[in-house]
Amino acid sequence: MFISSAKINWIMNSIIPLSAFSDNYIWLIVYGNSAVVVDPGDAAPVKKFLNDNNLNLSAILITHHHFDHTGGLVELANEANCPVFGPKGEHIKGITDALSEGDKFSVLNLDFSVMETPGHTLDHIVFYSENSDENILFSGDTLFSGGCGRLFEGTPMQMNESLQKISTLPDTTIIYCAHEYTQNNLSFALAANPTNITLKSESKIVSDLRSRNEITLPTTLFKEKKINPFLRLDDEEIVKNTELFHDMKLNSKHEIFAAIRSWKDSF
Ligand SMILES: [Zn+2]
Repeated sequence: MFISSAKINWIMNSIIPLSAFSDNYIWLIVYGNSAVVVDPGDAAPVKKFLNDNNLNLSAILITHHHFDHTGGLVELANEANCPVFGPKGEHIKGITDALSEGDKFSVLNLDFSVMETPGHTLDHIVFYSENSDENILFSGDTLFSGGCGRLFEGTPMQMNESLQKISTLPDTTIIYCAHEYTQNNLSFALAANPTNITLKSESKIVSDLRSRNEITLPTTLFKEKKINPFLRLDDEEIVKNTELFHDMKLNSKHEIFAAIRSWKDSF
């Protein structure tokens, strides 16, 4: 149901979202009759799509160890006999190519570089590909549209540094997030940043899309810098409202980030 609304670049690659569980997206990069899958939490929707479209699976990319991102990997890798790129550490069964910060690899016609982005989990990595016509990022559960991942393992400081690292990429970068959390994220963002005009109009667009059960992704770094409170630590209104919520003065970027994150957790 989401496929028709996906932003697809037919000239180079098609990047297609498959719905899984209640709100996950498994992204498929399709080129010719080959495909690469990112974070296959469930093998079934991937196998169906590959079968229905006569596609061969060339590789699997994994951003972090959570089951809703890895649950289908062993089954898919065994059937396709393909490489599995994911975080170093040997804690994820089935990874054949263990990756660290700055590692590079190629799949299909795309060259990817790896950024370590601890925070949501300690092993989290994201996949960035710079191309002549568009730059793409698979951000897993690190950066969402309007928000960021919960801090299950890392510290607020680690997550803030991870998001700062992502924000140094070109503003035109197209970001493929692993969950449909945008509407909830934007209602929080509006509470923190109620006079942000771009955020208000984006919130309306997202509500309309979700009322039709349509996808709100991908997003762009340019848009996120305008609407995502976790990338807007300099915004006076966000800082003021976060201080009011916690009834305390916030003295550094990391304190501001941590306070926005804990406010969002209780929202
Ligand atoms: Zn996760």
